[in-house]
Amino acid sequence: MSIKILMVEDEAAIREMVCFTITQAGYQVLEAESVAAARVAIADSLPDLILLDWMLPGVSGIEYARTLKKDEMTKHIPIIMLTARGDEFDKIRGFEVGADDYITKPFSVKELQARIKAVLRRTAPALDEEIIDVDGLRLDMSSHRVMANGNSLEMGPTEFRMLHFFMSHVERVFSRGQLLDRVWGGNVYIDERTVDVHIRRLRKALEPEKYDRYVQTVRGAGYRFSTRL
Ligand code: CA
Repeated sequence: MSIKILMVEDEAAIREMVCFTITQAGYQVLEAESVAAARVAIADSLPDLILLDWMLPGVSGIEYARTLKKDEMTKHIPIIMLTARGDEFDKIRGFEVGADDYITKPFSVKELQARIKAVLRRTAPALDEEIIDVDGLRLDMSSHRVMANGNSLEMGPTEFRMLHFFMSHVERVFSRGQLLDRVWGGNVYIDERTVDVHIRRLRKALEPEKYDRYVQTVRGAGYRFSTRL
């Protein structure tokens, strides 16, 4: 599962440079030239991180950051603000509205990559790890195995990918559409009810060790993987 980054920037030259750079670094990139376009992109596919320009026409980056951090669906997504050089006041405001980091323009490709890595490591450490452990349930990416209490739990490849996604995004609610996008990949036409089928299979696979109750239905919203019962 690749890490998805949304880049919101109205200046085409910067947007293209950044998108090229982060694609080269192995990330998947979504581009938006305005907040309106970002909203459309997010509705379609929830990113793991947002690079958000401070100065955007219409709704500013700062206003949009505030909105994102208030929304249950998006508040966990880390935001790196792109700001103009030396604007201390902006920096403070950025952190006040919940931005996780900022980069001052012009920035180097290396600096950008380092910031992205640092923020992801801090906010979603599990995305990088080979073995994820949530409350005794262990998922091993290299051997493609799931273990609990010393027992191996058998499941299909889709259930495995879904569990990996859930375990790297614990406590977050995802709609069926978002799960389809993240677990099956975009541009695939699959009925949203398919998600329910695989959720049932995943619960069944986790049931022998009582981890099925972590896969929770959130009425009217979708599903969540949570250790809070
Ligand atoms: Ca701008």
